Amino acid sequence: MAKTAAKTKETPARPRVKGSKTDVSKQVKIKKVSRAVTRLVEPGSQVDCMHCDERVKFQAKMRHQQVICNVYEKNKWIRVEHFHADCYKKAKQPFGKPID
Ligand SMILES: [Zn+2]
Repeated sequence: MAKTAAKTKETPARPRVKGSKTDVSKQVKIKKVSRAVTRLVEPGSQVDCMHCDERVKFQAKMRHQQVICNVYEKNKWIRVEHFHADCYKKAKQPFGKPID
């Protein structure tokens, strides 16, 4: 009787852990940090620029841009700040480069 000496290099089958509860970070989360976006000033805009204190005015012909910042502190949203696009640059982009 020939014993077939097959290479017995068995790796133990790894048990597949399905639905592991440690993996809860799959959801796409919005980063809770201050951020800035550039937007066109909309008609009826009632906000003041944080930098120069003047109204961020809508002017049809000008199509002014404003920078809207969502300000977070310790992972908590606190407030929105508005800037004239130019003022935001003058203020040295306190909340980072605005995203279009
Ligand atoms: Zn301003």
